[in-house]
Amino acid sequence: MAKNGVAVGIDLGTTYSCVGVWQHDRVEIIANDQGNRTTPSCVAFTDTERFIGDAAKNQSALNPTSTIFDAKRLIGRRFSDSTVQSDMKLWPFKVVGDFGDKPKIVVNYRGVEKEFSPEELSSMVLNKMKDVAEEYLGKEVKDVVITVPAHFNDSQRQATKDAAKIAGLDVLRVLVEPTAAAVAYGLEHKLTSNPMAQKNVLIFDLGGGTFDVSLLKIRKDNIEVQATAGNTHLGGEDFDNRLLNHFVEEFKRKHKKDICRNAKSLRRLKIACEKAKRVLSYNNKTTIDVDALYEGIDYSAKITRARFENLNMDLFLSCIETVKKCLEDARMDKSKVHDIVLVGGSTRIPKVQQLLQQFFDREELCKNINPDEAVAYGAAVEAAILSGEDNQIIKNLMLLDVTPLSLGIAVEGGAMSVIIPRNTTIPNSVEKQFSTAEDDQTSATIAVFEGERTRITDNSLLGHFELSDLPPGPRGSAQISVMFTIDANGVLSVFAENKATGVRNSIKIIRRGTLKEDEIERMIKEAEQFKIEDEEFTRKNNAMLAFKDCIYKMRDFFKRNNKLEASVKKMIKYSFEDAIEWLDANKNAEVYEYEFKKKQFEAICNHLVAGIADLKIEEV
Ligand code: AMP
Repeated sequence: MAKNGVAVGIDLGTTYSCVGVWQHDRVEIIANDQGNRTTPSCVAFTDTERFIGDAAKNQSALNPTSTIFDAKRLIGRRFSDSTVQSDMKLWPFKVVGDFGDKPKIVVNYRGVEKEFSPEELSSMVLNKMKDVAEEYLGKEVKDVVITVPAHFNDSQRQATKDAAKIAGLDVLRVLVEPTAAAVAYGLEHKLTSNPMAQKNVLIFDLGGGTFDVSLLKIRKDNIEVQATAGNTHLGGEDFDNRLLNHFVEEFKRKHKKDICRNAKSLRRLKIACEKAKRVLSYNNKTTIDVDALYEGIDYSAKITRARFENLNMDLFLSCIETVKKCLEDARMDKSKVHDIVLVGGSTRIPKVQQLLQQFFDREELCKNINPDEAVAYGAAVEAAILSGEDNQIIKNLMLLDVTPLSLGIAVEGGAMSVIIPRNTTIPNSVEKQFSTAEDDQTSATIAVFEGERTRITDNSLLGHFELSDLPPGPRGSAQISVMFTIDANGVLSVFAENKATGVRNSIKIIRRGTLKEDEIERMIKEAEQFKIEDEEFTRKNNAMLAFKDCIYKMRDFFKRNNKLEASVKKMIKYSFEDAIEWLDANKNAEVYEYEFKKKQFEAICNHLVAGIADLKIEEV
């Protein structure tokens, strides 16, 4: 249980923030009082009031010098820092340095000039997110997992923590954003069952004003950032600006007037551009309409997705270059990346996704979690884990995402035939065909095992059932199809059927919690240790099966042939019975023994047919 009330996860973003909570066995992203699931990281001061979030952003045009955004670009930095100095040139608000070289933002509040530190301004945004959560939950929120970019240094992380403290929040953990995104996708939990396994995950985070690429190495319970790359000044706003310039030029051509002369017109056109950009992620074309845009002229213009892509292609391509750089820094080939996770609203742009797919030469990108919310989502999961209460539920839930061990059935010679391999994502369904091992076999035992060894006696029996009333016939004549289905809760259903007769039977096996994590680990380790032994078993079993197959094939061959004399037929019958008897008595023979016996048997058969016209043993 959280020490005090509920624990939430907050993504404190450069342009937008987002809060999530683990409730009712899932993450809920909490909408603010405006019904928005993300809140602008924006604080505004006026003569009478202070606004935070949407209210602050909505009045920014009227109050540019006291509407503060981008505090994240200042937090934990020195005023003399070159990035602070260059960012300052782009902001409409004033930033000064104090005696300790800390940046302070100057605003006009209630008629007085006031200075705020970036921590104080961030704390106001965090307080707003806290309020949003408390309003929704009806409970006090005290504990928080808060996220920061992977490239944040100690000072920036500490300052973010201080901001939370000022907001009256206890920080359970500062989580880096790419790790939070990986947690959101449960990518690390899928590995908890296998201590050897490792996943390389690329987090592609393209937001409103920043672009971050991180390469993570995920092992059991441990996520390590291998390399990061990015551009602190690339994002959705740049794409908006490219559209804006395009329309400004078009307006000039059409009306011989320059909108740039009027800041308000420019701002209105930019808002329309952002809207159009979003629409172009879903539609191939759209129209922007702004009434009385400039000097009373109503403006309406069409734009296609292809044109938008053209206008931004160099920026999109530069994102791919950054991905390449990140991989180079980590000395990793792109083929070694297991998952690509999309974070940030701008990853909705189809061209961005397409270029990534082309570069990695694959279809699947992890994008089923809303990209604006993935970081807060992961922070909320982490908050729940750290606060304890739902720890087991979360772990179980995530563990069930993949099969921790292979599942299969017992086949001839005591071998395990794997139907669903270890680490297969669930839910899943796999069907495999088998056939009878003996002549006139009218029933088959379907014994279901779990484990990594090749011999069933080394694996765990989960359950078994009989499939009876099989049609009698020679070995191999009756086909049995076996279907394994695992549902999202980890329940395994095994279904066997002889399609010719329609005879069927099934079993349901509830596997949840049957094996503890350390047991799974032991079994996987053992499979590694006994690899040579298992390979030896497989070789022997294959040699045994090859001999058995040969015996039955010869027998069928002779059976089919009616040119044989009775005395020859008798000898064949003896040789066949002799070979089968030997096989029954020598279940543990060596490979060379099976091979020798097989050769001997073939020689006898060859000898028996020698001299019989038109009969060739190769016909077998
Ligand atoms: P974030 O900071 O991650 O919330 O990203 C916000 C950025 O994503 C803004 O620049 C938005 O304009 C952009 N964005 C949101 N939705 C879309 C969309 N459907 N298509 C293109 N860009 C989008």
